[in-house]
Amino acid sequence: MKMDKKKKRNIPAADRQEAAPFDYPVDLEAGRKRCPHFGRCGGCQLLSVPYPDQLRLKQAYLERQLAPFVKPEPILGMEQPLHYRNKVHAVFGSDRRGNVISGVYRAGSHEIVPVDRCLLEDERADAIIVSIRGLVKSFRLKPYDEDRGTGLLRHVLVRTGHITGQILVVLVTASPVFPSRKNFVAALRKLHPEITAIVQNINDRDTTMVLGKRDIVLYGRGYIEDVLCGRTFCISPQSFYQVNSVQTERLYREAIDMAGLTGREKVLDAYCGIGTISLIAASRAGHVTGVELNPDAVRDAKRNALNNGIENVTFHEQDAGRFMTELARQGGSIDVLFMDPPRSGSSREFLQAAKKLSPGRIVYISCEVRTLVRDLHLLNDMGYRVERARGVDMFGETVGVETVVLLSKGEIKSKKV
Ligand code: SAH
Repeated sequence: MKMDKKKKRNIPAADRQEAAPFDYPVDLEAGRKRCPHFGRCGGCQLLSVPYPDQLRLKQAYLERQLAPFVKPEPILGMEQPLHYRNKVHAVFGSDRRGNVISGVYRAGSHEIVPVDRCLLEDERADAIIVSIRGLVKSFRLKPYDEDRGTGLLRHVLVRTGHITGQILVVLVTASPVFPSRKNFVAALRKLHPEITAIVQNINDRDTTMVLGKRDIVLYGRGYIEDVLCGRTFCISPQSFYQVNSVQTERLYREAIDMAGLTGREKVLDAYCGIGTISLIAASRAGHVTGVELNPDAVRDAKRNALNNGIENVTFHEQDAGRFMTELARQGGSIDVLFMDPPRSGSSREFLQAAKKLSPGRIVYISCEVRTLVRDLHLLNDMGYRVERARGVDMFGETVGVETVVLLSKGEIKSKKV
């Protein structure tokens, strides 16, 4: 599909550069010593701030934002805040001279900053992306041109399992027609025998979303497995998976501890993704119900329950708010609610249904403090008190803040499951 070169692209909100949540010092020279792309790529806003100070900034921000509710406990920092990202995304394009380039969009724009190595990303993934760029050139494939709507390769996504070492490569193409696909896959596997799965994803729409709807498995099983808190999880290309596996274990442990489970509770895990929290909490609960909108993630969750031999869980593919409303209408009840919504936070429908289902405790996990605070005010008005809160640093070197909050409505009522 052709586009007028001068036509302004309509960049959706999620892609626009948002105001940073807190002020931070920037020392360009110090940052560039660590990474030549500092200040251009926009990824590591805090690169010139020493890590202990980064944690202090995040802690102070949380204390300010959560002041109406509770004093947060000390943030759980990373031991090693580098190369923690298990999901690496590179956009492909051409420079003015027609050379194939790969890298990241400059923050808030559609200009590609060529990046070969990133301090946050898994190093095996970065090396694979550089090799793919070489192969694109030698196979004379054309990277996609957003303005003209021509060319083939749009993005490459690499996911790595931090415990299993499995690696999934997703080649996002503008068309299903991929010339010399077999040879390309063979050449890539020869260069990187560590790759365990290769998927072609077709994204033929004029969109800022990375992945299209259709996946074609080119090699391996089409997904990777990873281990978190002793359970094994299959992760498909389209499913959400936390990007920092080491800190995710700490986040989940904190969340499940806060829930104070005794082994009898009826638990709801809303926005459950591939069922990680559900399946980790299941051994300490009576029954866990997970609800999630993304069909691939729900399929993974069900497979993960089977693979781990966990029987006291049920997964539903539905909008979380609608599911809860329906459950409340049927007179259902729950003891503990885990909720881990996307950046936009929860919905009014969801929170109103939560009130009706009346869980004794709510554990709210959030990657966006602004929507967390908005939702905490609403939950407060519904009679829920914020008991505890803690930041877990999942996004070292960046301004991202992950928070887990415990709310309660008096004593947990022990209900028969
Ligand atoms: N708890 C999971 C996933 C958290 S990310 C984990 O820790 O891995 C948020 C999830 O919410 C994503 O999987 C996304 O697909 C899902 N989601 C987004 N909007 C939703 C909605 N309205 N109803 C249910 N799930 C939704």
